[in-house]
Amino acid sequence: MQEANCIFCKIANGEIPSKTLYEDERFRVILDISPASKGHAIILVKNHAANIFELADEDAREIFLVAKKVATAMEKVLQCDGVNILQNNGEVAGQTVFHLHMHIIPRYKGDSVNISWKPQDENSVLAEELIEEIKQTLV
Ligand code: AMP
Ligand code: ZN
Repeated sequence: MQEANCIFCKIANGEIPSKTLYEDERFRVILDISPASKGHAIILVKNHAANIFELADEDAREIFLVAKKVATAMEKVLQCDGVNILQNNGEVAGQTVFHLHMHIIPRYKGDSVNISWKPQDENSVLAEELIEEIKQTLV
């Protein structure tokens, strides 16, 4: 299902042209318009989901296989030295387009890409009750 006025729905489903690297029934992989590095690509789901919380299980299962294909091709062709694979959910997490996508960012020795966080102090460690509650909720 597509959502009206969603640019990634239109790109994923071919209504807006894009530099496509790969396409199948569920996904389209395109080059990012403002790449973090040479070859930065994004995997778009064809069925609209704003974020991981809305993502269909089958799309969730399959998306990493696509990431593996793309990363493997990048390593061979671009001869990158590494790859970051990441996916933002929610504005606070850095999401700017609210249609689920996964970033594949080739990395090159000495590049200036910056993906980092500062380790926090012990206040950020989860209390035992919360660990237990998460475990129960996961089942
Ligand atoms: P995020 O911050 O995780 O939501 O990432 C959104 C990404 O989509 C950014 O890296 C943008 O550069 C990229 N982007 C936005 N619009 C387009 C577009 N029309 N075509 C390709 N990439 C896009
Ligand atoms: Zn969409």
